Amino acid sequence: MTSDRNYEKFQAELDNKVLRNESIAEHTTFKIGGPAQFYYEAEDTDSIVRAVKLAHKLRVDIFMLGGGSNLLMSDDGFAGLVIKTKNSHLEIKGSLVTVDAGMWLNMLVIETLKKGLSGLEPLSGIPGTVGGAVFGNAGAWGKAIGEVVKQAEVLVVANKSVRWKTMSQAELRFGYRDSSLKHGDYILLRAQLKLRKLKTGNLLKRFGEVIKQRSGKHPLDYPNAGSIFKNIRYSEDLQHLKKFEAYGKVSVGKIIDSLGFKGRKIGEAQVANEHANFIVNLGEAKAADVLELMNEIEREVESKYGVKLEREIRLVGF
Ligand SMILES: Cc1cc2nc3c(=O)[nH]c(=O)nc-3n(C[C@H](O)[C@H](O)[C@H](O)COP(=O)(O)OP(=O)(O)OC[C@H]3O[C@@H](n4cnc5c(N)ncnc54)[C@H](O)[C@@H]3O)c2cc1C
Repeated sequence: MTSDRNYEKFQAELDNKVLRNESIAEHTTFKIGGPAQFYYEAEDTDSIVRAVKLAHKLRVDIFMLGGGSNLLMSDDGFAGLVIKTKNSHLEIKGSLVTVDAGMWLNMLVIETLKKGLSGLEPLSGIPGTVGGAVFGNAGAWGKAIGEVVKQAEVLVVANKSVRWKTMSQAELRFGYRDSSLKHGDYILLRAQLKLRKLKTGNLLKRFGEVIKQRSGKHPLDYPNAGSIFKNIRYSEDLQHLKKFEAYGKVSVGKIIDSLGFKGRKIGEAQVANEHANFIVNLGEAKAADVLELMNEIEREVESKYGVKLEREIRLVGF
């Protein structure tokens, strides 16, 4: 069987560290999702490159997994190779920071604050890796990581080849929870950030302050994947949504709440009582339940308010 042959080739190239039928639910904050046909944890950048090149040669689909905090994996899982990024080298020279995609974002925030570098503190408490954060331009309090990313080293997976490329901040086209990485076959290996050196020295206490401000805003009792939909940029033609607007953004959580969705359940997927833009897994939720709930929300919001919601979480394997 091709699957067996591919497995042997992956094992030979990747030091016998490839797993078959690994449950992806275990690797996501939603605790939802079927198995990966092949699963590999890449401890360094060279391992990612080797895995990607071989999968490309064997024509096996690739999915890059960071902290699994912004995705919904289908109940059928992923037919291909899931590469979990665990490369986490960090180099700080003055105010220039070079960091691997697999490093936990919070670890990066802490390490830079310790060195008296400012710029990442609004991101304190956002789960996941640097790779996931750059991919989706993660942010909070009106700030996002793209503002400080100067360049990124990526693999471009094209039809015929896999090539290494350095992308500038302009090429990364950061927007609200968006970057060009979302719109092509790019694999982020590492990023270079330019922060601001402050005279104060250790700024670590800022991390705790931001975490405290975040507490109570998100449902933490049940597994979830953060905001399901993107907030909407406010414009003149959205006057009817003015009551949900703050700081130029229409709060999708408030829109959904206004339709009485809090607490609505399909199977064991439930719209969170704390925040209507979160769906929580009460225990045994299926990806299909979450998707049905999302579809229901989208239909009702469009019919009542005439706006199409844009999904923030990534759907994988559907
Ligand atoms: C409780 C909670 C609170 C949250 N709060 C916030 C918040 O305040 N602000 C915010 O922006 N987000 C928030 N999120 C969402 C999430 O934490 C972020 O989007 C995070 O940056 C995702 O990173 P990750 O490593 O978990 O990505 P994953 O979920 O693993 O992946 C997300 C996407 O990124 C891609 N990806 C990951 N790594 C790479 C790579 N190296 N190369 C190419 N593609 C890659 C994946 O393929 C996938 O498509 C929250 C989530 C939770 C659960």
